[in-house]
Amino acid sequence: MKKILLVFAIFGTLACNNAEKQSKVEGATPEAASEEKDTAPNFGIVIHGGAGTILKENMSDSLEQQYRAKLEEAIRTGHEILANGGTAVEAVQRTINVMEDSPLFNAGKGAVFTNEGTNELDASIMDGSNLNAGAVAGVTTIKNPINLAYEVMVNSEHVMLAGKGAERFAKEQGIEIVDPQYFYTENRYRSLQRIREQEKTQLDHDDQKTAFLDPYIKDSKFGTVGCAALDKHGNLAAGTSTGGMTNKRYNRIGDAPIIGAGTYANNKTVAVSSTGWGEFFIRGMVAYDISALMEYGGLSLEDAAREVIQEKVPALGGDGGIIAIDHNGNVAMEFNTAGMYRAKMNRDGDLEIGIYGE
Ligand code: ASP
Repeated sequence: MKKILLVFAIFGTLACNNAEKQSKVEGATPEAASEEKDTAPNFGIVIHGGAGTILKENMSDSLEQQYRAKLEEAIRTGHEILANGGTAVEAVQRTINVMEDSPLFNAGKGAVFTNEGTNELDASIMDGSNLNAGAVAGVTTIKNPINLAYEVMVNSEHVMLAGKGAERFAKEQGIEIVDPQYFYTENRYRSLQRIREQEKTQLDHDDQKTAFLDPYIKDSKFGTVGCAALDKHGNLAAGTSTGGMTNKRYNRIGDAPIIGAGTYANNKTVAVSSTGWGEFFIRGMVAYDISALMEYGGLSLEDAAREVIQEKVPALGGDGGIIAIDHNGNVAMEFNTAGMYRAKMNRDGDLEIGIYGE
């Protein structure tokens, strides 16, 4: 009897195996489909549209809808590039272009105003496959600063160009130039006026730093944009674009164009883009620090991001957040402010959009 059972068992197993092989060939069963997905190359994308005091009670339903729709449009742009086998660098650039062109964010159209009433834009991009990087700072006529950062990365022997020189280089590269008026938006101009008025009423006129670094600004949302992506070829890239901080003076440059602070990407570890109070992100070398904690400290992305954003940056006195994706497709969207405009999308097309600290 035992023998008979054994024969049945062996026969049954063989029959099952054959059936399994058969179905794999035809790709007919759900099991086969999911197995195929597991061996397909992973990819993913994550974005931010700035961190700060973004509270539900200060947001109208219609404005929230506009933010959600723009975040979705931006991330779907990059996701489609990745799904079609495009590079992480291209996905990052095109995704950021969508947000630069929207007045909702503090980058490109809608950039904040300097103390002099002008708009000075910073941006950077990094390719994790070869650690190549490009950045521009203080440009005033470049419609999409991330595109100029890309040109610096691939068509110059430099990493960072600033001001007039960067704009001359832009002309040589055929990058779209606009009249500075293009960047004007009434909302951002009103923010500058409000801060100027506040400045006038301050008793301590000697302390020039006050109006820039003070709670008023600290409590306003920042609005920089950034993107990090992993492509099907296993390459990571990150980019960041911003108008900086309202009422900035003296050609102040923030963290966004600084490789290692605002942007960092390394195939070995992670791609990161930062947003927040730039001075502290420079001093904390935030984006690189997350990568270093992973590379040398063996931390997971989740732990590294938490350590830097919840411990290190606040200990210095700063605030803000990051978005990041690691070489395995794990994503972090960490912030220590009330909110951060953000979205992520994985290989399967699952989309998650967030604004407040939920
Ligand atoms: N980090 C940017 C800066 O300091 C501001 C922002 O994130 O919105 O220039």
